[in-house]
Amino acid sequence: MSFELPNLPFASDALEPHISANTLSFHHGKHHNTYVTNLNNLVGDTYKSLEDIIRESAGDPGKAGVFNNAAQVWNHTFYWNSMKSGGGGAPSGDVASGIDAAFGSFDKFKEEFKNAAVTQFGSGWAWLVVDGGTFKIVKTANADTPIVGGQIPLITCDVWEHAYYLDFQNRRPDYVQAFLNHLVNWDFATSNLG
Ligand code: MN
Repeated sequence: MSFELPNLPFASDALEPHISANTLSFHHGKHHNTYVTNLNNLVGDTYKSLEDIIRESAGDPGKAGVFNNAAQVWNHTFYWNSMKSGGGGAPSGDVASGIDAAFGSFDKFKEEFKNAAVTQFGSGWAWLVVDGGTFKIVKTANADTPIVGGQIPLITCDVWEHAYYLDFQNRRPDYVQAFLNHLVNWDFATSNLG
């Protein structure tokens, strides 16, 4: 069995004007697809899950290629699901109460999430995770993913330049603001609470 590129969970123009169909054609159709192709070339036929491959290769210098491609496949699928057309706004229910408990207010959460996403030097990801029952914001470099450490991701924002350069050029803060205000899918965050 080999891994396949999942379809986007929305139409390619669904996130416009914030993230263009042109960006998605490269980001999903080229970047994400290349990680899938590279992973299949490295692992061949396997019945292991993507998560098992990620956890087994994490921290092993001899398996860096497997880890980087497997984690990037997983992270990108999670990122697509972290957004929706007409997203943004404030969460409700258990996500809202978890955010309030951890950060004091939704506005404070947005400020801290944006700061993490903007200050991730170089390529990486910003995440809202649950860690031991507590909501936390974490940032990871390159392909690193919180599922290795046992944290439960709720949402993520890709801050590799390929995620925003066609639409925002160097303005990563504007991209992250658009993600929070117009795209983030709190229904997906709720579903990840289990
Ligand atoms: Mn990406």
